[in-house]
Parts: sequence; C-alpha cells; structure tokens
Amino acid sequence: MKQTISVNSRLRTELIDITGQVRDAVRKAGIEEGICHLFVPHTTAGITINEGADTSVKRDILTCLNKLVPFDGDYKHAEGNSAAHIKTTLVGTSALCLVENGQLALGTWQSIFFCEFDGPRDRRVHIGIFFAVD
Ligand code: ZN
Repeated sequence: MKQTISVNSRLRTELIDITGQVRDAVRKAGIEEGICHLFVPHTTAGITINEGADTSVKRDILTCLNKLVPFDGDYKHAEGNSAAHIKTTLVGTSALCLVENGQLALGTWQSIFFCEFDGPRDRRVHIGIFFAVD
C-alpha cells in the first residue's frame, strides 16, 4: 500500500518531525506485521530517524551538517544549491521501520524527521507499507 504525505518546510534547512503522519499512514494501512518504507522524491531533502525527545539533538544535527557543508563553497552547480544536494546525499532519501502489532517499532527516543536542505518548499514523502509473510 502506497501513500504520500505532504510536508511544507518554512526554513532553508530544517528537520521536521513527521512521526505522527507516518503513524497515521500505518494505522490506515491496517497491517499488523510488516515493513514501512519511507522515500523522499527530492534531490535537496532527505529523511532520518533520530532522537525526538530532546529538540536540541535536531538543532545539533543541523548545525553540524551546515558546518560540514557550508552554503558557499567551491561548487560548480549553476543552480547554486550544491550544499543542499550534498547534505541530501549524506543523510539519504529513504528510511525503513518495522511494523509490529500494527505500530511503528521505533525505539523509545526515536522520531522520524524529514530533512529540508533547500527550503522553504512544499515537499512530499512516499510511504510504502508492506505486509510481512512468515
Ligand atoms: Zn540544484
């Protein structure tokens, strides 16, 4: 079952917690045991699973990525957003989470974050939820 959710970023770089929307998608799929695959169909945005309890963590991740890959550098890409493309490659554009007893099997402190690197933009995340066959 494939679903698509919308994410509207407001900042140039931003981690947006989409855990609630993904939980809703899993509920809607009505699958007890399986796999939830998340895919971001963009070249300047990604997805990651990390700590959601302390919001300082997402701030630290962004601060570090922005330091590692500065907005201005020795880039040739004419569009001027090479930093966003590079950050997307570092973070990746897909994530997987098991579904157990109809719920995402996330760890206690884990949340799912859409990673905006070239916002603000209107974005999408594709969610594939697959039934597990024993
Ligand atoms: Zn570009």
